[in-house]
Amino acid sequence: MAGVFDIDLETEDVSEEEDVCNYSNPEPEHVQTEEVELTSDSVNRDSERVGPDCFELLTVLGKGAYGKVFQVRKVQGSQTGKIFAMKVLKKAKIVRNAKDTAHTRAEREILETVRHPFIVDLLYAFQTGGKLYLILECLSGGELFMQLEKEGIFMEDTACFYLGEITLALGHLHSNGIIYRDLKPENIMLDHHGHIKLTDFGLCKESIHDGSVTHTFCGTIEYMAPEILTRSGHNRSVDWWSLGALMYDMMTGSPPFTAENRKKTIDKILKCKINLPPYLTIDARDLIKKLLKKNSAQRLGSGKADCADIQKHPFFRHIEWEELLNRKMEPPYKPQLLSDEDVSQFDSRFTRQTPVDSPDDARLSHSAELAFAGFTYVAPSVLESLKEGFSFEPRTRHVRRHSPRTPISPLTFSAAGPFKSGLDADVFPPPVAPPTSPPVVPTENGAASRPIKTPARNKKQNGLRS
Ligand code: ATP
Ligand code: MG
Repeated sequence: MAGVFDIDLETEDVSEEEDVCNYSNPEPEHVQTEEVELTSDSVNRDSERVGPDCFELLTVLGKGAYGKVFQVRKVQGSQTGKIFAMKVLKKAKIVRNAKDTAHTRAEREILETVRHPFIVDLLYAFQTGGKLYLILECLSGGELFMQLEKEGIFMEDTACFYLGEITLALGHLHSNGIIYRDLKPENIMLDHHGHIKLTDFGLCKESIHDGSVTHTFCGTIEYMAPEILTRSGHNRSVDWWSLGALMYDMMTGSPPFTAENRKKTIDKILKCKINLPPYLTIDARDLIKKLLKKNSAQRLGSGKADCADIQKHPFFRHIEWEELLNRKMEPPYKPQLLSDEDVSQFDSRFTRQTPVDSPDDARLSHSAELAFAGFTYVAPSVLESLKEGFSFEPRTRHVRRHSPRTPISPLTFSAAGPFKSGLDADVFPPPVAPPTSPPVVPTENGAASRPIKTPARNKKQNGLRS
């Protein structure tokens, strides 16, 4: 493949001159694109004036590479009393490949085209103090992988349901010329019924954390396609690689390529063969192999038919696609929620309440005070989290040892380097094992080790994702 880049894998610090924090994931230069910047004009659907004073900040729900996400309540105008999620960014835009789409559309229409039953809905946007506030539907079911962490691994029919809904969402974006690019566990959420929702829709985001951090590949890399890591040009098939990595994670307990540091992880993604535990059925095994083809041209879904080729795979033979799309298939888990405000499905490190009368409350940083000037009410727990300096550095989560979700500092990149991508590694020949053979506990790198009694295990029993 052309244009292989040098990856400075030894450097954990990022110099100021590096590829700093501009819109992430730009399209390769040769691709003809259409762009829509998200603003109050392009997003808001009616004439209601929406600003910070329309919302109360209730709690912190999560943190991504680009900023925090808050639970808010609307206190003015239409939908008063309704709970939403609010994400703060500097800028965000949708970039779509003009060639993949039938005709040019107005900005508002492009935003309409990303609506889908399995993609988060964007309701309002407003800008103030140099920041962009996106008001999204609140996905109270939490991250899908909170569920996976509880279960250890998913049974095949459960994985099939979720992967089917994700496939439809990705196929929909692709048909509109949009590559999601960032498919990873933290970006897959459940709504209150238990259906999948992808957080955002291939947005190119600009963090409000000015200048000091590059957002190129900060955060999780375990689900990224080889051609993204080598920056050798990519197309929509990168999303099908990530789907394969997720499928592997759901069914074995960890992503296909993991190591103790980023350099080794990237090395494995680029060069290593996948290791398929023997308890996977023939169909699951075959689909994983076809999605995790390092040569993107050979990857299932890379052809013109895109998601249709994946939908036809025997792994999905029990799925009625029309029913699935219409949300008529029963989700495997229904989140147990007491009210619209229930945040029990979120990480308590984000949602925990703090004492109202903390003596430190007065010591909020100036930027934190400014950040939420104008909001009707800011909950003590949110204020507390702002004392971190309204920090917008990539999140620090502690999930499990060597977890792909354990944060690692960003990599830096410079031109010309050692990684030869496109090593057309295939997979090991499947071990001979009947589909009914007992499941085994996968090790950190996904290799099977000892048998387990039941695949639906809790965290304490299996120790996998703790
Ligand atoms: P990244 O690019 O790393 O994915 P990001 O800055 O774009 O990060 P998101 O992934 O959108 O941020 O959000 C960060 C976290 O906030 C999510 O992992 C999730 O836990 C929570 N979150 C995001 N959107 C919502 C939503 N609509 N409802 C509830 N929680 C959400
Ligand atoms: Mg995210």
